[in-house]
Amino acid sequence: MKISCEITKDLIPLYHDEVCSNQSRIAVEEHLQECDDCKKYLDSIDSDFIQVNTVKLAEQSKSNVLKGIKKKLFRKNVMISAISVICAFAVLFGGLLFVFHYQLPISYEKGLVSVKMGDNGMLDVYFKGNDYYCSYEWTTTIEKDGIKQNVAYIYYTDSIWTKYFSKPKKDREYKYSINNNYWFNDGSSKDDIEVKREISAVYYLDYSDIPKLSKEDLIKNSSKAVLIWEK
Ligand SMILES: [Zn+2]
Repeated sequence: MKISCEITKDLIPLYHDEVCSNQSRIAVEEHLQECDDCKKYLDSIDSDFIQVNTVKLAEQSKSNVLKGIKKKLFRKNVMISAISVICAFAVLFGGLLFVFHYQLPISYEKGLVSVKMGDNGMLDVYFKGNDYYCSYEWTTTIEKDGIKQNVAYIYYTDSIWTKYFSKPKKDREYKYSINNNYWFNDGSSKDDIEVKREISAVYYLDYSDIPKLSKEDLIKNSSKAVLIWEK
């Protein structure tokens, strides 16, 4: 079937997109073999298509790159925020630990501590300062004037909180008891037996090192201890 240039040009876009009927396709191909003008028209549509697609592809890849960069930046920002939050918490937690639990030994002052023998045979230790963080106590045997005797060493510590910020509670009794007896098992029976320790003196250990001393340190520092109670 011979068709005119006009009809061919109408059909070429459909032919190009491969959406025309078989009959139209054959007619267009027959015409194109003989007509350079229409062939050029088809070529121009082809090159337009390629150009449009190239531009589209370039734009797409550009936007993909941008999307990738945005995603990476977003992830980086999330990571930085998460790390900042963790660091802030760590600093806060460390600060709180330091304020509430870092121990400063309380030096001895007259009247800071008093000791009384309780009715139950325990030694009651009364703290007269405002507040404290922790109290420590050791009992040990020393030799004085050739006589062995049991003595107790005590000291108190402040935290930064108790030293500078906390107020003494009205009904709180700053007291603890040193057991004058101890439980002992001599192996002869199943039950432990209570033995009188007979503590003969209580000393306040005034030293500036922190916090729990070893037995050797205790002996080294015992000369700095202040006698606060004697039997
Ligand atoms: Zn033609």
